[in-house]
This record gives sequence, structure tokens and C-alpha cells, in this order.
Amino acid sequence: MSDTPRAWDAHCHADLFDEPTSVARECDSARVAVLAVTTTPRAFVPNQRLFAKYPNIRVALGIHPELAASKEADLALFSSLLSETKFIGEVGLDGRPQHWRTLPVQRELLRAILRLCHNQNKVFSLHSPRAVKELLDEIENCIPDPDTVKILHWFTGTKSEAQRAIELGCYFSVNHAMLSKATNHAIIQSLPIERVLTETDGPFVKVDGRPSRPPDVLIAAEMLARLWGTPADVAERQLLANASFLFQN
Ligand code: MN
Repeated sequence: MSDTPRAWDAHCHADLFDEPTSVARECDSARVAVLAVTTTPRAFVPNQRLFAKYPNIRVALGIHPELAASKEADLALFSSLLSETKFIGEVGLDGRPQHWRTLPVQRELLRAILRLCHNQNKVFSLHSPRAVKELLDEIENCIPDPDTVKILHWFTGTKSEAQRAIELGCYFSVNHAMLSKATNHAIIQSLPIERVLTETDGPFVKVDGRPSRPPDVLIAAEMLARLWGTPADVAERQLLANASFLFQN
């Protein structure tokens, strides 16, 4: 993509679509840039190759907390690839019923990742379902460096947890599924607009029954505009400024 982006998808599993290169071409023509998160360090180099022709797809190095107890959680490989990127994701904690048993292992892995990234000005996309308090504790205790960017992807916490995250300097990437639930609106409205980003979490999030693709962030921007009471183009410009500040360079 040679044109500057119009919008950013701050959390997308671009490699997990059936046709990742057609998604990449679509982003190119819609001028939507993407933070392509990975769930295992084994996917990092293949993703870099897959999207090499698309400079506005930035590949992040990750170990999904769901895989913390598996052999995919290859910390040695993660460490060896760390100098290749400033983007880390996705990583975090998952306290949902199917994963809470591995929470201690997840926490150990996350702490090891944070130690490796200490003082390196990385940009993190962080996962925290049913573990918001636990994740914020790790951010507070293990990320002392204020230049580390912490983006809470698909935040599901309470209003007071959102306040705590704001005080810790976190950003929030919101998607279509979050915005479609009226019960989330008050929390989303409580976030400072300069801390809000858009994401799709595609292909996992569905929009109109099909996997969400990066250009869908433009729909999320419209929904945010309605919540903020601003024209869509004003919201779009704000979201672009927020994301460009974090992702460019
Ligand atoms: Mn994800």
C-alpha cells in the first residue's frame, strides 16, 4: 500500500482467513492498515512472508494465553524473534471457564514475556476476558516503563476497571461485536476518545453472519461516531490520529 491509511484495524488474525492475500488486497484498496496479531511465535515468520508485499499490514509476535500450556508457547522462539518487531500480540490472560485452570501458567508466561520486552518500547495488544483485574495487576506491577503501549483488545471489564486501565495509560481497541451490545455503550462512552482504537478481531467476530474483515473498522467508526455524537468523518479522523500515533514508524 503506497497511500496513507484511512483507518486502522488494531487487532486482526489476518492469517486465519481462508484467503489471507485477498484480505490483504482488500485492505490495500480500502486503505485500511492492520495490526496482524499471531497466536504462536511459529506463525510470525510465515506471516511476515505472507504479507511482505503489504507494508500497511504490520505483523505482531504473540503467544495466545489459550495456548500457554501447550508446546505452541515457545518462549525461546518468541525471544529470538523479538528484535524483528515492535508489535506484541496477542498475549494476555484468559479466565473463561475453559481456560481458568491454566491461569497460573498463563500468568507465568505473561510475566516472562513482559520481562523480555522490558524497556523496549513495544506496542502490546492484550487479551483479558474474565481476567481484567488480573491483567491490570500485571500491567501495574510488570510494565513500569511508561513508553510501552498497552492496548486492551475487546475489553470486557467494569466501569471502575476501565477507569483503572485509563489511569495505567491503556488504550482500548473496540470491535463491531462490542459496539453492537447496548449494555457496553456506557463503558465505551466513558473512555477518553484519544484512547480509543478500532479493531475487528476477524475472522472470529462476525458481522452480518460473515467473518469480520479489516474494512469493517469503518462501520465501527460510524458506530463510535453515534456514541460520541460527532459526524462520522470527525470520528474517523480522531481514530486515525490515535492509531497513527501508536503504529506508524
Ligand atoms: Mn484475537
